[in-house]
This record gives sequence, structure tokens and C-alpha cells, in this order.
Amino acid sequence: MEQKTLGLYIHIPFCKKKCSYCDFPSWPGLEDYWEAYTGSVVDELVMKAPEFSHAAIKTIFIGGGTPSLLPYQYIVRILDTVFAHYKILPDCESTIESNPGTLDENKLSAYRALGINRLSIGLQACQNRLLNKLGRIHTFSDFENALDLAKKHGFSNINADIIFGIPDQTFEDWQETVNKVLHFDLTHISCYSLIIEEGTVFGRLKEEGLLHEMDEELDRRMYHYAVELFSRAGFAQYEISNFAKPDYQCRHNMNYWERGEYIGIGAGAHSFYSNRRYANSSDVLSYMKGICEGRPRLSEDSSLSAEESLSEKMILGLRLNKGVDLAQVSGEFGLDVGKRYQKNIEFLLSRKLVERSGDVISLTKLGLDLANTVFVQFI
Ligand code: SF4
Repeated sequence: MEQKTLGLYIHIPFCKKKCSYCDFPSWPGLEDYWEAYTGSVVDELVMKAPEFSHAAIKTIFIGGGTPSLLPYQYIVRILDTVFAHYKILPDCESTIESNPGTLDENKLSAYRALGINRLSIGLQACQNRLLNKLGRIHTFSDFENALDLAKKHGFSNINADIIFGIPDQTFEDWQETVNKVLHFDLTHISCYSLIIEEGTVFGRLKEEGLLHEMDEELDRRMYHYAVELFSRAGFAQYEISNFAKPDYQCRHNMNYWERGEYIGIGAGAHSFYSNRRYANSSDVLSYMKGICEGRPRLSEDSSLSAEESLSEKMILGLRLNKGVDLAQVSGEFGLDVGKRYQKNIEFLLSRKLVERSGDVISLTKLGLDLANTVFVQFI
């Protein structure tokens, strides 16, 4: 029988400073909790290990927050627990997220010694005035230094996150960012359109009329520019916001989009297992109390119906450039998916939002711009 494989996500909810656009579960100023939180993560890993003893971990992703903010000894404690209590596949992709300005020689060499083989660095923009506007703690030269250091320590699989649609960002700024990023010999680029969320600094400024969102046309022009340049430079687009050199797609995220199962550890971490989606409380103290009591506190918990699972399969699959193979999904769900969504697919084809090649449907260029319009057809 084929071995069951899982992704493992570990959330580190601490940052040096809250960025102006960020609505992720992450908090500055909780240094006093770092050690106890690490203990809770270790306890949760140990507590949950028996449930997953029959499965092997194929990807590990330490995300945040800013995991690289923690003293490396905490990451060592966490990963030593993973290695002691879980079966890890030999070719496991193991990623840590980092922020320029929080990396140093000791951390990078500890990460390598732990088998971390993929580094994700939040660059966001190459202009210090935009980094400042975003509330980032680093400058562009901090990114360059972090990258040099990472390469010196043997990291060859490196992602940079960049953002477009930043208020006051010009098309020329974006051209500069895209072109500079292409000169760094990276393997992966994540390229996101800024969304101004309620409850963030940007959200409040917007409510007060003090911040103007980028107009849609410029936002799309920036996106198309990046897609074009990345593709010319050998970064194939494989998801709406993700680009990779051959064989360097992020396997951990591919598992999400392909609806593979994964375990989430830490405050706010989501899990998907046995058709059940659940999430730990994102409140750090509440999370730690739950673990201490031996009962993780959940903020979400739902078992998916067949209809909900199919809907997810279509929506997540369409995020990927390879699209959705209707015959394969039909086999998996035991019904004719082409028939089930016949009207919806015909509508999307007529609007040129998706294209069909044999059994496979995928987003067109227009569909990539209007992905949410496509997705609602499968809800
Ligand atoms: S570093 Fe990342 S997680 Fe932390 S506040 Fe900024 S955007 Fe949010």
C-alpha cells in the first residue's frame, strides 16, 4: 500500500514590528512569550504525533510571522521534536520564512544543519521609500546582504516575495523591482497584489480617506509586466501569484492547492485531514493555555460534505496554471464533473475566462485577472 504523505506547517506568530498592510496572525512585542510558545509548539507536536504515526511528512514549512526573528535555538528545539516524533521523507522540502534584517550567520548555519533546504525572504519592494511606507523593518540593502549570506551558507533554493499595488508605487518602481529581482539568481518568486484589509494601518487610513488604492488598470499592468518578464527569464508561472524555475515549485503550497492533507501546528495554524478542516486559536495566550490543558483550542472546525469538497477541488485547482482535469476529478469524486458544472463551464468558456484542452480546463489570461469571477461559478 502506498504510504500516506502529509505537509507540516508550523506557525511562529512573532514579528519585530507590525507592517502597515498585514492582517496575518502575527504580533510584535511578545518577546517574553517566545520561550513558552516554543514549549507549546513542542508539546503540540508530541501530542499530535500518534494520530499521524502511519504517515510520512513530505514538506515542512515554518511560517509566520517572522520565524527568523526567533533565536535559532528555538527552531532547533522545534525541528528536533519533529525529527524525533514524525516520519520524514528523505527528500522532504523544508522551508523557513525570513525577513531581511533578522538573519545572521549563526541562524543560517543552524538552519542548514537542521536540513532546511528552502529559504523564503520577504523583500516586497526594492525602493526604501516603499518599504518604509509598508512599515517594513528592512532596507533593500538588508535584503541583498541577507541573500549573500544565505548563499554563502549553502542555500540554493530561495524565494523572494514581492508586492505590487502599493499606494504611491509607480510603474517605474515596479519595473525596477521586477528587473532587480531577476538578477539575484533565485529559484522562486511570489508576486502578490496588495489588498488593503480592514483592521490594518492601511485599512484605517483608507477609511479616513487618507490612503488611495491603486487603480485597477495600473495594478493589472504591473501584474502583466511581471508575468511577461518572469516568463522570459525562465520563471514559469504555475499559480496565480507564483513563479518558479523548472523543478522549483513550492511543493508545500502545491500540496494545499492540490488538496493534499496537512497538519498545522501553532497559534492560528490550519489543518486539513480526513476531509476535516480545522484551525488552532490564533490568540497566542489562548493557544498556549489550550496546549497546556492538553486540548488545543480551535477557532474553526468543519467536516466537509462531498459537495463542499468538490467545490474546493475546482477552485483550488483552477488557481494552478495546469488547470483542472475534469476526467481525473470525476474519477476521484465518482460523478461526471463536466456534467455537474456544464452550464458554469460553458458560461466561463463563452466569456473567455477559462479555456479547455481535452478534459482540462484552466484560466485564460483574462481569467487570471478575474479569478474570483471564475471561482464563484463553483461555489
Ligand atoms: S513581517 Fe510579515 S507577518 Fe510580520 S507584520 Fe510584516 S507582513 Fe505581517
